[in-house]
Amino acid sequence: MKAKSQIDRSSQSRSRDQARVLLITDEPLVQFPATLEVAGIHLAGICNAIAAPILLRRSRPQLVIANVPFKGMSIQELARMLAESQDFVPLILAGEETSTLELRRAAMSAGAFDYFQLPAEVDLLIPNAIQLINLRQRMDRLRGEADLDHLTGLANRRRFRVALSREVERWRRYGAPCALLLLDIDHMKKINDTHGHPAGDLVIRQIADTLIRVSRDNDTAARLGGEEFSLLLAGTDEAKAELAANRLRAILAEQPIEGVGNVTVSIGVAACPAHANSERTLYAASDEALYVAKNKGRNRVAVAPQIS
Ligand code: GH3
Ligand code: MG
Ligand code: MG
Repeated sequence: MKAKSQIDRSSQSRSRDQARVLLITDEPLVQFPATLEVAGIHLAGICNAIAAPILLRRSRPQLVIANVPFKGMSIQELARMLAESQDFVPLILAGEETSTLELRRAAMSAGAFDYFQLPAEVDLLIPNAIQLINLRQRMDRLRGEADLDHLTGLANRRRFRVALSREVERWRRYGAPCALLLLDIDHMKKINDTHGHPAGDLVIRQIADTLIRVSRDNDTAARLGGEEFSLLLAGTDEAKAELAANRLRAILAEQPIEGVGNVTVSIGVAACPAHANSERTLYAASDEALYVAKNKGRNRVAVAPQIS
Protein backbone atom coordinates (compact mmCIF):
# COMPACT_ATOMS: atom_id res chain seq x y z
CA MET A 1 0.00 0.00 0.00
CA LYS A 2 1.27 3.46 -0.91
CA ALA A 3 1.98 5.77 2.01
CA LYS A 4 -0.40 8.37 0.58
CA SER A 5 -3.42 6.12 0.90
CA GLN A 6 -2.80 5.73 4.64
CA ILE A 7 -3.61 9.36 5.47
CA ASP A 8 -6.86 9.52 7.42
CA ARG A 9 -9.38 10.10 4.61
CA SER A 10 -12.32 11.16 6.77
CA SER A 11 -10.47 14.00 8.41
CA GLN A 12 -8.71 14.92 5.18
CA SER A 13 -11.98 15.38 3.34
CA ARG A 14 -13.38 17.37 6.29
CA SER A 15 -10.61 19.89 5.92
CA ARG A 16 -7.97 19.25 3.29
CA ASP A 17 -5.54 21.79 4.66
CA GLN A 18 -5.39 19.98 8.00
CA ALA A 19 -2.53 17.66 7.00
CA ARG A 20 0.25 20.21 7.40
CA VAL A 21 3.94 19.73 8.08
CA LEU A 22 6.50 22.40 8.91
CA LEU A 23 10.06 21.62 7.83
CA ILE A 24 12.85 23.22 9.85
CA THR A 25 16.18 23.25 8.09
CA ASP A 26 19.29 25.39 7.56
CA GLU A 27 20.08 23.56 4.31
CA PRO A 28 18.20 24.17 1.05
CA LEU A 29 16.60 20.71 0.81
CA VAL A 30 15.05 19.92 -2.57
CA GLN A 31 14.54 16.19 -2.86
CA PHE A 32 13.08 15.65 0.61
CA PRO A 33 10.18 18.17 0.34
CA ALA A 34 9.31 16.68 -3.05
CA THR A 35 9.30 13.16 -1.58
CA LEU A 36 6.96 14.30 1.20
CA GLU A 37 4.56 15.89 -1.27
CA VAL A 38 4.54 12.71 -3.39
CA ALA A 39 3.61 10.78 -0.24
CA GLY A 40 0.61 13.11 0.27
CA ILE A 41 2.21 15.12 3.07
CA HIS A 42 1.58 18.79 2.45
CA LEU A 43 4.38 21.20 3.38
CA ALA A 44 2.89 24.13 5.28
CA GLY A 45 6.26 25.89 5.38
CA ILE A 46 10.05 25.59 5.34
CA CYS A 47 12.11 27.79 7.66
CA ASN A 48 15.08 27.89 10.00
CA ALA A 49 14.70 27.42 13.75
CA ILE A 50 14.70 31.17 14.49
CA ALA A 51 11.64 31.71 12.28
CA ALA A 52 9.91 28.59 13.64
CA PRO A 53 7.78 30.35 16.32
CA ILE A 54 6.24 32.69 13.73
CA LEU A 55 5.70 29.95 11.14
CA LEU A 56 4.17 27.74 13.83
CA ARG A 57 1.52 30.34 14.57
CA ARG A 58 0.95 31.19 10.94
CA SER A 59 0.84 27.73 9.37
CA ARG A 60 -0.47 25.71 12.37
CA PRO A 61 1.31 22.48 11.35
CA GLN A 62 0.33 19.09 12.70
CA LEU A 63 3.88 17.82 12.62
CA VAL A 64 7.35 19.40 12.57
CA ILE A 65 10.25 17.66 10.86
CA ALA A 66 13.60 19.19 11.76
CA ASN A 67 16.71 18.58 9.67
CA VAL A 68 19.59 18.27 12.14
CA PRO A 69 21.90 19.92 12.94
CA PHE A 70 20.24 23.35 12.92
CA LYS A 71 21.31 26.68 14.39
CA GLY A 72 19.49 29.10 16.65
CA MET A 73 18.17 26.75 19.33
CA SER A 74 18.79 23.28 20.74
CA ILE A 75 16.64 20.25 19.92
CA GLN A 76 15.40 20.33 23.52
CA GLU A 77 14.34 23.95 23.18
CA LEU A 78 12.53 23.24 19.92
CA ALA A 79 10.78 20.17 21.38
CA ARG A 80 9.75 22.16 24.47
CA MET A 81 8.41 25.00 22.36
CA LEU A 82 6.31 22.56 20.31
CA ALA A 83 5.03 20.73 23.37
CA GLU A 84 4.04 23.98 25.04
CA SER A 85 2.40 25.47 21.95
CA GLN A 86 -1.37 25.76 22.09
CA ASP A 87 -1.87 22.48 20.27
CA PHE A 88 0.86 20.01 21.05
CA VAL A 89 2.88 19.54 17.83
CA PRO A 90 4.97 16.34 17.49
CA LEU A 91 8.57 16.53 16.29
CA ILE A 92 10.57 14.15 14.07
CA LEU A 93 14.30 14.61 13.48
CA ALA A 94 16.06 13.80 10.23
CA GLY A 95 19.65 14.22 9.02
CA GLU A 96 22.55 12.80 7.09
CA GLU A 97 24.19 11.14 10.09
CA THR A 98 23.68 7.37 10.45
CA SER A 99 20.79 6.61 12.77
CA THR A 100 22.50 4.66 15.47
CA LEU A 101 20.60 3.47 18.52
CA GLU A 102 22.44 6.12 20.50
CA LEU A 103 21.34 8.92 18.16
CA ARG A 104 17.70 7.75 18.20
CA ARG A 105 17.75 7.45 21.97
CA ALA A 106 19.16 10.99 22.24
CA ALA A 107 16.44 12.30 19.89
CA MET A 108 13.73 10.70 22.00
CA SER A 109 15.28 11.94 25.24
CA ALA A 110 15.30 15.46 23.81
CA GLY A 111 11.55 15.25 23.15
CA ALA A 112 11.41 14.16 19.49
CA PHE A 113 9.52 11.04 18.41
CA ASP A 114 12.45 9.54 16.50
CA TYR A 115 15.46 10.23 14.28
CA PHE A 116 15.77 9.06 10.64
CA GLN A 117 18.74 9.12 8.33
CA LEU A 118 18.20 10.93 5.03
CA PRO A 119 17.81 9.78 2.36
CA ALA A 120 18.39 6.15 3.39
CA GLU A 121 15.45 5.93 5.81
CA VAL A 122 12.92 8.12 4.08
CA ASP A 123 10.69 5.06 3.57
CA LEU A 124 10.55 4.68 7.35
CA LEU A 125 10.16 8.37 8.08
CA ILE A 126 7.10 8.81 5.87
CA PRO A 127 4.82 6.18 7.47
CA ASN A 128 5.93 7.47 10.87
CA ALA A 129 5.02 11.01 9.88
CA ILE A 130 1.64 9.87 8.55
CA GLN A 131 0.87 8.06 11.80
CA LEU A 132 1.63 11.19 13.81
CA ILE A 133 -0.46 13.38 11.49
CA ASN A 134 -3.40 10.97 11.77
CA LEU A 135 -3.07 10.98 15.54
CA ARG A 136 -3.11 14.77 15.60
CA GLN A 137 -6.15 14.89 13.31
CA ARG A 138 -7.98 12.50 15.59
CA MET A 139 -7.01 14.57 18.63
CA ASP A 140 -8.31 17.73 16.91
CA ARG A 141 -11.57 16.01 16.07
CA LEU A 142 -12.07 14.73 19.60
CA ARG A 143 -11.24 18.15 21.00
CA GLY A 144 -13.84 19.70 18.71
CA GLU A 145 -16.47 17.12 19.67
CA ALA A 146 -15.76 17.53 23.38
CA ASP A 147 -16.99 21.11 23.05
CA LEU A 148 -20.24 20.21 21.32
CA ASP A 149 -23.62 19.23 22.70
CA HIS A 150 -24.38 15.69 21.51
CA LEU A 151 -28.14 16.19 20.96
CA THR A 152 -28.07 19.43 18.99
CA GLY A 153 -24.51 19.96 17.75
CA LEU A 154 -24.51 23.40 19.37
CA ALA A 155 -21.64 24.58 21.54
CA ASN A 156 -21.85 23.09 25.02
CA ARG A 157 -21.42 24.92 28.32
CA ARG A 158 -17.64 24.61 28.16
CA ARG A 159 -17.33 26.27 24.76
CA PHE A 160 -19.92 28.85 25.79
CA ARG A 161 -17.78 29.82 28.81
CA VAL A 162 -14.74 30.32 26.61
CA ALA A 163 -16.77 32.48 24.19
CA LEU A 164 -18.29 34.51 27.02
CA SER A 165 -14.91 35.23 28.49
CA ARG A 166 -13.54 36.20 25.02
CA GLU A 167 -16.38 38.65 24.34
CA VAL A 168 -16.21 40.31 27.76
CA GLU A 169 -12.46 40.62 27.27
CA ARG A 170 -13.06 42.27 23.88
CA TRP A 171 -15.30 44.79 25.59
CA ARG A 172 -12.65 45.46 28.26
CA ARG A 173 -9.85 45.93 25.72
CA TYR A 174 -11.57 47.51 22.75
CA GLY A 175 -14.89 48.75 24.13
CA ALA A 176 -16.91 46.45 21.82
CA PRO A 177 -20.26 45.70 23.50
CA CYS A 178 -21.67 42.18 23.72
CA ALA A 179 -25.00 40.76 24.76
CA LEU A 180 -26.19 37.52 26.25
CA LEU A 181 -29.61 35.98 25.60
CA LEU A 182 -30.61 33.11 27.89
CA LEU A 183 -33.53 31.04 26.62
CA ASP A 184 -35.61 28.46 28.43
CA ILE A 185 -38.34 26.40 26.75
CA ASP A 186 -41.73 27.03 28.35
CA HIS A 187 -43.51 24.05 29.92
CA MET A 188 -41.01 21.51 28.65
CA LYS A 189 -42.06 19.02 31.28
CA LYS A 190 -45.63 19.14 30.00
CA ILE A 191 -44.40 18.67 26.39
CA ASN A 192 -42.58 15.49 27.45
CA ASP A 193 -45.56 14.26 29.48
CA THR A 194 -48.00 14.88 26.64
CA HIS A 195 -45.99 13.87 23.55
CA GLY A 196 -43.21 11.69 24.92
CA HIS A 197 -39.50 12.25 25.48
CA PRO A 198 -38.44 11.71 21.81
CA ALA A 199 -40.86 14.47 20.77
CA GLY A 200 -39.33 16.63 23.51
CA ASP A 201 -35.89 15.92 22.02
CA LEU A 202 -37.17 16.99 18.61
CA VAL A 203 -38.37 20.28 20.12
CA ILE A 204 -34.90 20.86 21.58
CA ARG A 205 -33.24 20.09 18.24
CA GLN A 206 -35.54 22.35 16.26
CA ILE A 207 -35.00 25.26 18.60
CA ALA A 208 -31.26 24.66 18.28
CA ASP A 209 -31.58 24.72 14.46
CA THR A 210 -33.38 28.07 14.64
CA LEU A 211 -30.68 29.47 16.92
CA ILE A 212 -28.03 28.49 14.38
CA ARG A 213 -30.10 29.97 11.55
CA VAL A 214 -30.51 33.36 13.19
CA SER A 215 -26.98 33.71 14.58
CA ARG A 216 -24.15 35.43 12.73
CA ASP A 217 -20.64 34.08 12.29
CA ASN A 218 -19.24 35.71 15.42
CA ASP A 219 -22.19 34.79 17.65
CA THR A 220 -22.18 31.67 19.81
CA ALA A 221 -25.32 29.57 20.14
CA ALA A 222 -25.04 27.02 22.93
CA ARG A 223 -27.13 24.46 24.77
CA LEU A 224 -26.31 25.00 28.41
CA GLY A 225 -28.13 21.86 29.52
CA GLY A 226 -31.67 20.38 29.54
CA GLU A 227 -34.01 22.82 27.78
CA GLU A 228 -31.84 25.89 28.32
CA PHE A 229 -29.91 27.71 25.61
CA SER A 230 -27.80 30.80 25.23
CA LEU A 231 -27.06 33.09 22.34
CA LEU A 232 -24.02 35.27 22.81
CA LEU A 233 -24.12 38.24 20.45
CA ALA A 234 -20.71 39.72 19.60
CA GLY A 235 -20.46 43.49 19.07
CA THR A 236 -24.12 43.98 20.02
CA ASP A 237 -25.48 46.59 22.43
CA GLU A 238 -28.58 46.33 24.63
CA ALA A 239 -31.01 47.90 22.11
CA LYS A 240 -29.99 45.58 19.27
CA ALA A 241 -29.97 42.62 21.64
CA GLU A 242 -33.54 43.31 22.74
CA LEU A 243 -34.64 43.54 19.11
CA ALA A 244 -32.87 40.26 18.31
CA ALA A 245 -34.48 38.56 21.33
CA ASN A 246 -37.98 39.73 20.37
CA ARG A 247 -37.46 38.57 16.80
CA LEU A 248 -36.18 35.19 17.95
CA ARG A 249 -39.08 34.74 20.40
CA ALA A 250 -41.59 35.51 17.63
CA ILE A 251 -39.92 33.17 15.10
CA LEU A 252 -39.93 30.31 17.59
CA ALA A 253 -43.52 30.89 18.74
CA GLU A 254 -44.81 30.95 15.17
CA GLN A 255 -43.10 27.83 13.87
CA PRO A 256 -45.06 24.67 14.74
CA ILE A 257 -43.06 21.56 15.58
CA GLU A 258 -44.15 18.33 13.94
CA GLY A 259 -46.28 16.19 16.23
CA VAL A 260 -46.12 18.76 19.03
CA GLY A 261 -47.53 22.05 17.73
CA ASN A 262 -46.42 25.50 18.78
CA VAL A 263 -43.78 25.79 21.47
CA THR A 264 -42.70 29.01 23.16
CA VAL A 265 -39.58 30.19 24.96
CA SER A 266 -38.85 32.84 27.56
CA ILE A 267 -35.72 34.95 27.02
CA GLY A 268 -33.58 36.97 29.41
CA VAL A 269 -31.40 39.71 27.88
CA ALA A 270 -28.37 41.47 29.35
CA ALA A 271 -25.60 43.41 27.66
CA CYS A 272 -22.13 44.51 28.57
CA PRO A 273 -21.59 47.34 29.60
CA ALA A 274 -25.23 48.51 29.97
CA HIS A 275 -26.22 45.82 32.46
CA ALA A 276 -22.99 44.22 33.59
CA ASN A 277 -19.21 44.58 33.57
CA SER A 278 -17.89 41.02 33.96
CA GLU A 279 -18.62 37.49 32.75
CA ARG A 280 -20.20 36.59 36.05
CA THR A 281 -22.46 39.64 36.30
CA LEU A 282 -23.46 39.41 32.62
CA TYR A 283 -24.58 35.83 33.10
CA ALA A 284 -26.33 36.64 36.38
CA ALA A 285 -28.13 39.68 34.90
CA SER A 286 -29.40 37.67 31.92
CA ASP A 287 -30.45 34.80 34.21
CA GLU A 288 -32.40 37.16 36.48
CA ALA A 289 -34.09 38.71 33.45
CA LEU A 290 -35.07 35.20 32.29
CA TYR A 291 -36.60 34.58 35.72
CA VAL A 292 -38.62 37.79 35.35
CA ALA A 293 -39.82 36.71 31.87
CA LYS A 294 -40.99 33.39 33.32
CA ASN A 295 -42.76 35.07 36.24
CA LYS A 296 -44.51 37.55 33.99
CA GLY A 297 -46.23 34.71 32.17
CA ARG A 298 -43.64 33.10 29.77
CA ASN A 299 -43.39 33.50 25.95
CA ARG A 300 -41.80 36.87 26.48
CA VAL A 301 -38.51 38.78 26.62
CA ALA A 302 -37.25 40.58 29.73
CA VAL A 303 -34.24 42.90 29.77
CA ALA A 304 -31.96 43.32 32.78
CA PRO A 305 -32.01 46.64 34.68
CA GLN A 306 -29.36 49.24 33.68
CA ILE A 307 -26.40 49.65 35.96
CA SER A 308 -25.81 53.26 36.98
P1 GH3 B 1 -40.86 26.39 32.68
O1 GH3 B 1 -41.84 26.97 31.72
O2 GH3 B 1 -40.98 26.97 34.04
O3 GH3 B 1 -39.48 26.45 32.17
O4 GH3 B 1 -41.29 24.84 32.86
P2 GH3 B 1 -40.49 23.55 32.36
O5 GH3 B 1 -41.38 22.38 32.48
O6 GH3 B 1 -39.89 23.82 31.02
O7 GH3 B 1 -39.28 23.53 33.38
P3 GH3 B 1 -38.82 22.47 34.41
O8 GH3 B 1 -37.50 22.96 34.92
O9 GH3 B 1 -39.88 22.18 35.43
O10 GH3 B 1 -38.60 21.15 33.60
C1 GH3 B 1 -37.65 21.05 32.60
C2 GH3 B 1 -38.01 19.81 31.80
O11 GH3 B 1 -37.11 19.67 30.72
C3 GH3 B 1 -37.91 18.56 32.62
C4 GH3 B 1 -36.96 17.68 31.85
O12 GH3 B 1 -37.38 16.36 31.80
C5 GH3 B 1 -36.96 18.29 30.49
N1 GH3 B 1 -35.70 18.02 29.79
C6 GH3 B 1 -34.45 18.39 30.18
N2 GH3 B 1 -33.55 17.93 29.30
C7 GH3 B 1 -34.24 17.27 28.34
C8 GH3 B 1 -33.86 16.55 27.15
O13 GH3 B 1 -32.66 16.45 26.80
N3 GH3 B 1 -34.84 16.01 26.41
C9 GH3 B 1 -36.16 16.10 26.76
N4 GH3 B 1 -37.06 15.54 25.98
N5 GH3 B 1 -36.54 16.74 27.88
C10 GH3 B 1 -35.61 17.32 28.65
MG1 MG C 1 -35.21 25.13 32.68
MG1 MG D 1 -38.37 25.33 30.86
